[in-house]
Amino acid sequence: MRRMIIAGNWKMNTDLASGTALASGLAELVSGKELSVDVLVCPPFPYLQAVRQAVGESGISVGGQNCYFEPSGAFTGEVSVGMLQDIGCDSVLLGHSERRHILKECNGLINKKTKAAIAGGLRAVLCVGELLEEREAGNTEAVLDEQMAGGLEDVSAEQMTQVVIAYEPVWAIGTGKTASPEQAEQAHAHLRNWLASRYTQELADSVRILYGGSVKPGNAMELLGQPNVDGALVGGASLSVENFGPIIEAGLEISKA
Ligand code: PEP
Repeated sequence: MRRMIIAGNWKMNTDLASGTALASGLAELVSGKELSVDVLVCPPFPYLQAVRQAVGESGISVGGQNCYFEPSGAFTGEVSVGMLQDIGCDSVLLGHSERRHILKECNGLINKKTKAAIAGGLRAVLCVGELLEEREAGNTEAVLDEQMAGGLEDVSAEQMTQVVIAYEPVWAIGTGKTASPEQAEQAHAHLRNWLASRYTQELADSVRILYGGSVKPGNAMELLGQPNVDGALVGGASLSVENFGPIIEAGLEISKA
């Protein structure tokens, strides 16, 4: 049984006061509950440390939204894996569509970051997903295969214990258009088959594959209820306790069943 992950990607949102208030609110929400799912929040870099303090010992973990692959040096504006760990992060998002498409990150760079994150002991959340035109042209699976092969090049089966995949169709991110539960399940099953053919069925069955793209309290139950959906990566709805709380609750509910 794969343990679910409910992750929040705050992107370039919040400020120090609202970010720490959100983190404290989430810590309060989960306090006293048996956390049968992993809860992760990924705030902007400047607020990581304050958010880490605000979540305290609640069981909520904190991650970066990106990292660089070199450990230190003349890389202006970049943040290393070691720096993230130093301030208490256990995870990092990599290959998010906004980094692929706005910041032009390629599979090769994402692969270097993925390997650096793994080598440094972080959980790498590798995001993959197709554009609308790629879906409409019938190329969804080919795009996913290319992003998986590129992102996971030279990543061994043993290292895969530190990798989580997030399927995020680009046309569903921040648009209010959610993939239907059937579309999500189909893509997740494809990704799991890809993992089985690249590694083994046993490994494929153990890797968690999250869905991301306009997940909200109203659609979380149905999406999370799909057999190959092992959690959610949530953008907009992770920015308030009122919206992220019910998504965490949906994960807890499903993990009990
Ligand atoms: C995301 O940023 O990863 C995301 C899925 O955003 P949203 O939930 O806002 O679509």
